[in-house]
This record gives sequence, structure tokens and C-alpha cells, in this order.
Amino acid sequence: MVKVSIDRNDCISCGNCWTICPDFFEQNSDDSFSQVIEMYRIGGNIAEGEAPQKIEDLVKEAADSCPVQIIHVT
Ligand code: SF4
Repeated sequence: MVKVSIDRNDCISCGNCWTICPDFFEQNSDDSFSQVIEMYRIGGNIAEGEAPQKIEDLVKEAADSCPVQIIHVT
């Protein structure tokens, strides 16, 4: 299990994260920025989530692919 946070205000909606790992990331339909899908959010926060081990590698790959490096995995 890894914790993930997205600095959403700096997202440029490039789509890399939700293309690489659509099981964890998705595009917010209002502001177009990346967010955590509902089932993995922490306390309902769209910018923070916990990723289970089975998708950990893809979440990390998505974070590495972010051109503005705003996805933090710990
Ligand atoms: S990869 Fe980064 S900039 Fe691109 S949509 Fe995801 S969070 Fe936003």
C-alpha cells in the first residue's frame, strides 16, 4: 500500500496518469484536472489516496510520467 497525493492546482491535464493507470486516476469533469477515483480516496479527498499493492507499480509509473511532477507517492 502506498499513499498518493496530487497537487491538483498545478495539473496541466495532459492525461498521462489516467491513461497509464485508469484504475487509480481519472479526470475531474468540472476542472479537468487529475483526481483519485472514489474507492481509493482518503477521507473523500479527491487529491489524496491509498493505492493497493496490485496497482502500486502502475501508480508509480504514472507519477514518473507526469510532466510537471505533481504526483507524490510515499
Ligand atoms: S500526469 Fe500530471 S499533469 Fe498530466 S494529468 Fe496527470 S497529474 Fe495532471
